[in-house]
Amino acid sequence: MYSVAQIHAILGRQTDALVDPTLEIFDLAYDTRKIRHGEHSLFFALKGIRDGHAFIGDAYQKGVRAFVVSQRDLDLSLYPAGNFIWVKDVLLALQRLASYHRAQFKKPVIGITGSNGKTVVKEWLTQLLQGDKQVYQSPKSYNSQLGVALALWNLSDDYDCAIIEAGISQPGEMASLEAMIQPDIGIFTNIGTAHAQGFSTKQEKIREKLQLFIHSSDLLFSSRYDIGPFLSKGVRGFTFGYMSLDDVQILQIADDGSLATTIKLSYAREVATFSIPFRDKASIENILICITALLFFGYPLAKITGKLAKLRPLDMRLQLKKGKNGCSIIDDSYSNDLGSLQIALDFLFQQQQHSKRTLILSDMAGLDNKLRQKLLDLLRRQELDRIILVGSGTYFLQDGLHTEVLFFKTTDELLSAMRNLTFEQESILIKGSRAFHLEEVSKVLVAKSHETVLEINLNALEHNLQLYRGMLPSGVKLMAMVKAFSYGSGSYEVANLLQFNKVDYLTVAFADEGVELRQSGITLPIMVLSPDEQVFETLVAHELEPEIYSFRILNALIAFLRRRHIKHFPIHLKIDTGMHRLGFMPDEMEKLMEALCHTDTVRPISILSHLVASGNVDHDDFTRHQIAAFRHCAAALEDATGFPLIKHIANTSGITRWPGAYMDMVRLGIGLYGVDTSHTLDLELVGTLKTTITQIKTLPAGETVGYDRKGILTRPSRIATVKIGYADGYNRRFGHGAGQMAVNGQLVPTVGAICMDMCMLDVTDIVAHEEDEVLVFPDLLQAASNIGTIPYELLVNISSRVKRVYFYG
Ligand SMILES: *Cc1c(COP(=O)(O)O)cnc(C)c1O
Repeated sequence: MYSVAQIHAILGRQTDALVDPTLEIFDLAYDTRKIRHGEHSLFFALKGIRDGHAFIGDAYQKGVRAFVVSQRDLDLSLYPAGNFIWVKDVLLALQRLASYHRAQFKKPVIGITGSNGKTVVKEWLTQLLQGDKQVYQSPKSYNSQLGVALALWNLSDDYDCAIIEAGISQPGEMASLEAMIQPDIGIFTNIGTAHAQGFSTKQEKIREKLQLFIHSSDLLFSSRYDIGPFLSKGVRGFTFGYMSLDDVQILQIADDGSLATTIKLSYAREVATFSIPFRDKASIENILICITALLFFGYPLAKITGKLAKLRPLDMRLQLKKGKNGCSIIDDSYSNDLGSLQIALDFLFQQQQHSKRTLILSDMAGLDNKLRQKLLDLLRRQELDRIILVGSGTYFLQDGLHTEVLFFKTTDELLSAMRNLTFEQESILIKGSRAFHLEEVSKVLVAKSHETVLEINLNALEHNLQLYRGMLPSGVKLMAMVKAFSYGSGSYEVANLLQFNKVDYLTVAFADEGVELRQSGITLPIMVLSPDEQVFETLVAHELEPEIYSFRILNALIAFLRRRHIKHFPIHLKIDTGMHRLGFMPDEMEKLMEALCHTDTVRPISILSHLVASGNVDHDDFTRHQIAAFRHCAAALEDATGFPLIKHIANTSGITRWPGAYMDMVRLGIGLYGVDTSHTLDLELVGTLKTTITQIKTLPAGETVGYDRKGILTRPSRIATVKIGYADGYNRRFGHGAGQMAVNGQLVPTVGAICMDMCMLDVTDIVAHEEDEVLVFPDLLQAASNIGTIPYELLVNISSRVKRVYFYG
């Protein structure tokens, strides 16, 4: 760790006067809500959505005594014990510190980038290497200009290697990520098809991404992506693919019909066959790159087979669950190493619901004396109320900790002692390696929900919002679409978080939805899509702003406002540039100007149009035409009425694919909820639909399942009944195997027809028990495509009888 004076020097400053140059810094902080050890934190006053300089007082109050700032006119008398380091650009300073710290790490650093799959490949590769090596991985989706810097800060000599993920949203960003990460070895996961994020061509996108590897010795990638010609001099390619020139050659990929895939590979004249528990293309590609990496690191083919069997889908990690007796359970019982323990502890402390915190921790494999000391130090620094240790390898911790410590030799011992332990109104982190099966402990603590619930992860919503925000130049406003019950995610909770995060506008589909938001304290401006005459009174009463789309509705509104003697009522003008749904036609502009100039009842605030195919490359010419037509209409109206109008046309895909069409505001819909139809962003899914197994039956071949005897069993089968049916919004077309759910991380198909309140799953090939939890849409995009619809429909159709449960850390 560094003293303030050292950091001062690393940042190239000479002149600032430091009050306490010897002050030791352990943590970097930028968000005062997350500060835990104020006295040893260095606060960076970043200019993000909120200006960090406004939070210096907060940070000081939380004990922070060291600050990196850019604003000159701070009143230092308020912070007599504060050490201030002035820089031109605070983010740059943070990156510089990260880069310096990275340079001290002399073991291999693996850098990962690509359009998709970065996080999955990073996590899987860590899982695969763990055990043989101490691997440091950058925390989940810490891949941005800020995230990477924070991730690198935790790198230390205790690790044998580091895996760091890099993501960019605009040209020019990779150079600074490269300077920080300095990857020795590179992994390029893939290149998306959409021209996302301000890149004009695919080549430009590839060139930009490859910037990360200009100083690397080797780069691992699929030869399917023709990036060889773009490699910098001195970078060796190491590829997998179908060609004999590939280092790792794919001989065959076969779907073996039982929800697994068999991959036959040849490497260095040896041939091996792997079976992996995934069928989707993305997972297969991600696993192939992981196998390629293991081969590159010198693992023999035979050893890799065994390792792959242990891979788990990512959503199995760090799950937040509702516990019995009002507890919250953070279940991370699938891996255990210092890095992931640190992340999980951070997550535990972000859960503000409970002030009492318990950690249940198993043995950690491969700890030498130094790492043991480190683990002890880490645990000592946490304000935990109770630590429950499992496994003889944790015995040494017993005496060193100053909290209540309980020790159990085995998981079974803990399980049988649990009856006598109390767990009440507290947050419990369960962290253990797979061998300890701490998920059994989790099962005892988690409140079994026998109903189908839609879990809404508000942290994910916030993450997605920031991600899109990061793509917008400053000054572009953001309108969040909360119509249709926030795409199924619930209205007030979502709107409240959006309001807290200072979006500029909300949009609902019906006046009633707007009223509900107003009644629960939402003060943001709210636009109501296409209201009719019956709700004018409601609009006025609740300050809701109508979208006006025709002369009939405009004249009706003007007449109504006149009767009520209301002037300058805010409205939004909808132009039809090609959707041909609602809106004024471009050739009606003149008449519209006329109407608006002759009344003072309404005050146009904004003008909008909707793109019909912003996400579809085949219609890019039409999109360009729509944007041009809209600009034309907007300019004409602004000129004639003299009102400056907020112009907006881009929806979610418009934001990712049409940066030239941001104008004054964008309208963010489905992307906010974590569905990335462009496959280019690392969004987090906000809603997770879960149900449980109610009953399991073992049936002989020849029996049938469900109505009309349509589910014919061709083999002796185990059939699980789950309590979700078409009345909950699980479409009937998901019957007969078209739908797949996940039980204990394994995919299983539906069997027979979907009933009104229930349906049946074939769990013959997996381990499943009654009362096990079931993920209804393990892959929402895949599910939608299986039944020929779009994810929007699946989300909004989740019936209102399905209870929404909110998480926010
Ligand atoms: C629903 C809607 C959007 C949001 O679309 P997404 O594709 O979900 O981003 C934007 N504008 C209008 C007018 C809409 O009705």
